[in-house]
Amino acid sequence: MINQVNFNTKIITIDGPAASGKSAAGAFLSEKINFSYLDTGLMYRAVTAYFIENNILPEQLNEISEHLENMNLNMKFIKRKISNIFINNNDYMSKLFLSKIDLSVSKYSSISSIRRYLVTKQRLIAKNKNIIMIGRDIGTVVIPSAKFKFYLKASSLIRAKRRYEQTKNKDKSIQEIKTSIELRDKIDSTRKDSPLMPANDAIIIYTDDLNLSEVVDKMYNAFIGENL
Ligand code: C5P
Repeated sequence: MINQVNFNTKIITIDGPAASGKSAAGAFLSEKINFSYLDTGLMYRAVTAYFIENNILPEQLNEISEHLENMNLNMKFIKRKISNIFINNNDYMSKLFLSKIDLSVSKYSSISSIRRYLVTKQRLIAKNKNIIMIGRDIGTVVIPSAKFKFYLKASSLIRAKRRYEQTKNKDKSIQEIKTSIELRDKIDSTRKDSPLMPANDAIIIYTDDLNLSEVVDKMYNAFIGENL
């Protein structure tokens, strides 16, 4: 297993709570600087969808470990972004943002065997690439040696409003979304293994009063400034 990724390539990590704008900012920045882009939340969502589909609860730790031993998770990238995510040849991409996944993903994500499985894959993907990787523990655990680390923060109300704007069918109120992301934040930041927190050397960006391009500009300026 690769524990430390040391290389000549550059890695940018973006961590932060649910709906803090990491994915949008990461994708935007990756286009701007021509880097690969990996949203690790999709991997946790796919594994959650798999276990739900196989009727395995987060409490069934032995069964989870057995399934992980034979699990084959693969991702297809188009233009340097994930287009499909397969587990044992089934594509989970279209199922990742169902409400049932939102409800359970943090529970499955707090299980150490699942984290070990995914972190190993994430480190392998980061090898030999210029990449922007986003998640909850990328700067602290997955690639602590990364030189450029960002942590996005925003109030839960602003995050819920942004998520509401992004949803097409508006089937959940802003208040319901707020409650759901606060619950996920709580589980993510209080779990024992790799809790959500900024790395000591992360640049923290408060995004309440910033739009997407202002957030990306802040990251870009920090990155370019270091590379002059
Ligand atoms: O980023 P997104 O909201 O899609 O992530 C879904 C969930 O996956 C998070 O709430 C968290 O429980 C888990 N996750 C994680 N570590 C990561 C990325 C996501 O625990 N690096």
